[in-house]
This record gives sequence, structure tokens and C-alpha cells, in this order.
Amino acid sequence: MATILVIGGNFAGLTSALEIKRRLKNQDHRVVVISNHENFLFVPSLIWIPFREREIEDISLPLRPILETHGVEFLLATATKILAEESKVETTSGTYEYDYLVIATGPSLDYSLPGLGPKTGYTQCVCTPNDALAIRDRFDQFVEHPGPAVIGAAPGAGCTGAAYEFLFNFEYNLRKRGVRDRVELTWITPEPFLGHFGIGGIKGAAPMLHKFFDSLHIRYIENADLVEVTKDELRLRDGTALPFSFSMIMPPFLGQEVVRNSPGVGNAKGYVPVHDTYQHKTYPNIFAAGIAVDVPVPFVTPVAVGVPKTGYPADEAGKTVGENIARLVNDNVDLKSRPFAKIPGLCVMDAGHKEVIIVSNHLMKPREFAAIIPNPIYDEGKRLFEKYFLWKTKHGYSYLP
Ligand SMILES: Cc1cc2nc3c(=O)[nH]c(=O)nc-3n(C[C@H](O)[C@H](O)[C@H](O)COP(=O)(O)OP(=O)(O)OC[C@H]3O[C@@H](n4cnc5c(N)ncnc54)[C@H](O)[C@@H]3O)c2cc1C
Repeated sequence: MATILVIGGNFAGLTSALEIKRRLKNQDHRVVVISNHENFLFVPSLIWIPFREREIEDISLPLRPILETHGVEFLLATATKILAEESKVETTSGTYEYDYLVIATGPSLDYSLPGLGPKTGYTQCVCTPNDALAIRDRFDQFVEHPGPAVIGAAPGAGCTGAAYEFLFNFEYNLRKRGVRDRVELTWITPEPFLGHFGIGGIKGAAPMLHKFFDSLHIRYIENADLVEVTKDELRLRDGTALPFSFSMIMPPFLGQEVVRNSPGVGNAKGYVPVHDTYQHKTYPNIFAAGIAVDVPVPFVTPVAVGVPKTGYPADEAGKTVGENIARLVNDNVDLKSRPFAKIPGLCVMDAGHKEVIIVSNHLMKPREFAAIIPNPIYDEGKRLFEKYFLWKTKHGYSYLP
């Protein structure tokens, strides 16, 4: 009997665990998810939390029943160290041995830039439930006393798409609250051009975003190299100082502490180096999926831009990991290869009561097909996607797209 541990129970971890168990159906193997959260969280809908369009409960599902219904065990604990040479994981609830390990721990947020972030700095962040909730009061205060606002992403940030979504929702809600004309709104981005998105751009994205920005009167600064935030000013390397009363800046991501604490498992940033099979480059019984995976940036830009490891590739990698571990457990060493860059791109970007759908045959260039299409029916696509994904997750249908 093999024991397979999966650290992390969100997009990549949940899919991996359910797929391993599904593919090893009727075989007597243990699959255990170790997660420090008892719920699955549909992270993409966090952008609506600050504007009270969602509550955290609306986008959360309890993990234990989903997993146990499908024969997967659940351990509510934080993994603190991976002892790769001994095939063991230390957690806040004991040490566990494994035959195979999946690392699906997602990102931690890098607030090392002076003044960045809601706890030790002055900018808001929409990446975690608590931080997204905290923006509600800040936004209410801002509406009472409007002033300049700066939204954007710090150098190295990979999740620029979510920052764009926040920008357009922020702008839309200022209009709804009747104060848009009292706010000078600026977007700063490390991208070399609008719509680069950390994937080298998509045909048609830059002109479309230019139109949005012009019609909504949003000033923008490309190649913005943010170096410091003070109580009331964002400072760029070229000396530009941007005063603000409200600011949301997407930070760069790092791998999780458990990976950074485990010698030989991750690189300097805490990401796990894997082959195109998602198998660890040094330890063949370790796999990784989702944001935990090391994806080298395939382009050079004047200011560092990270690669977005979005939900669809996290889910696809989880499926590949599930298939490959099931093969190894059954002594089949012919593993499936699914290079990250060649996974199709599929993303719906909410643009504040309207949205655009981004599709491509490959996430990264070269691509044979790529398009950005405005949705004629407001922003219903992302809302439908949320409902579909929560339905699929609740029923544990990990094999569905
Ligand atoms: C605001 C925002 C909006 C986004 N919008 C979109 C979008 O519209 N479309 C899209 O495709 N993608 C979007 N993304 C990206 C998407 O959320 C990620 O791709 C996805 O969450 C990655 O899945 P993951 O499983 O790798 O990581 P996560 O979803 O972060 O899951 C990792 C899990 O591991 C747990 N964990 C971490 N460390 C430990 C530990 N030591 N022990 C135990 N458990 C641990 C965490 O608590 C978490 O539950 C967005 C991201 C953000 C932040």
C-alpha cells in the first residue's frame, strides 16, 4: 500500500488528491491532504470582496466532506518541513512518512519592498480573505474623503491580471458611489506595455486596454519601477512621486515557507524545480503543481514582471500529477508530459460591470491562436465560471475542465 501526501488543498492540491484517488480506484492506497485551511477558497472572486459583492462564505467550501466522500483523508495542519532524503513531512500535528509527495502550497506574499503591504506598510492587497475584507472600511473612508488613488503592481509581480480587475472594479464602484470625478486615478505596472500580463502580451489586448483607460480617464505608467512607499506617496526609481490617499498594489509572490525551510526541495524563491511531468528534478517521489512550481520567466523586460500561474494551469498540472503518480504506483514509469508554457490560456477578466475573455492555444509564445474578446453581456462570464467551479469542486469532479 502506498501513502501519498498532498500539501495544500486548494486548486492544485485538491485536484491532485482527487485525481490520484480516482485513478487508483479500488486499490488500497492512502491519499492524505494536509492543509492549513479547512475550506477550499475560490481565490479569483476575492476581487469582489472589497465592494461587498461577495462574502467569504459565498466562495468557500468545507474540504473535509469533499475529500472524505472520495476516500481521501484530511489533516488540518501546517506542513513545516519536508525531509526529502527521508521521505517525511513535519507538520504542526506530527511527522508523516510518504511514498509520494505533492507540493501544492501556492504563494506567500513578498512585502520586502519598503512600505508595501497592509500590515507593515501603507498599500492594500486583495490576495487574502482578511486583506480583501479590510479594504471595505478603507474604501468607505476614501469615498467620504476622496483624493488621489494609485492601483497597480510592484516589480516582479506575476498576478497583474487580478490587479487590473481590482482597478476596473474600484473605478466602477467610485462611479456607483458618485465620487469618481473627485478622484485622480493612476495605474502603475512593471509591464513594458498594457496587456503584457506576464505572458508577453496577447494580440489586441494593448489597444483594447488603451481604449478602456482613455474612456475611463485613468492615467497609466508602464515600466513602473516602484522602489518605496511612504505614508502618502509611492516613489518610482526614475524619481516620480505619486501622492495617494488610497492604494492597492499587487506584491510579487514567493514560494511558501515550508519549501524555503526544506533544503534541496525548492530554489532561492521557494519554488519547486520540476520536469514537464511535474516530477521534482532531484527527488523522483516528489511532485509539485500550481503556484508552487518554478516557472522561469521566458522574456526580459526593463522592469521585472512575473509569470502568472493562474487557476487553469494549476488545475491542469494537478490532473497531470494525479495521472503520473497513479502510473508510478502501478510501476509504469512512462510519465505524461504537460509543459506549463504549452497549456492553453483561458482567463476571464472582470473589467467592472464588463469583462474580457482571454483565450490562446498556449499560455506562452509561440502561439498559433490567441484572442482577447469583450463579453457583450456585462460581466456574467466570470460569475458563471465561479458558480461552475464551486459546483464541480463541491462534487469532487476533478476530471472536468
Ligand atoms: C486576487 C486574485 C485573483 C485571481 N484571479 C484569477 C482569475 O480570475 N483566474 C485565474 O485563473 N486565476 C486567478 N488567480 C490565480 C489563482 O487564484 C491561482 O492560480 C490559484 O489559486 C493557484 O492555486 P494553488 O493551488 O497553486 O495555490 P492556492 O490556491 O494558493 O492554494 C494553496 C493552498 O495551500 C495551503 N498551504 C500553504 N502552505 C501550506 C502549508 N505549509 N501547510 C499546509 N497547507 C498550506 C494554503 O493555505 C492554500 O489553501 C487569482 C489570484 C488572486 C490572488
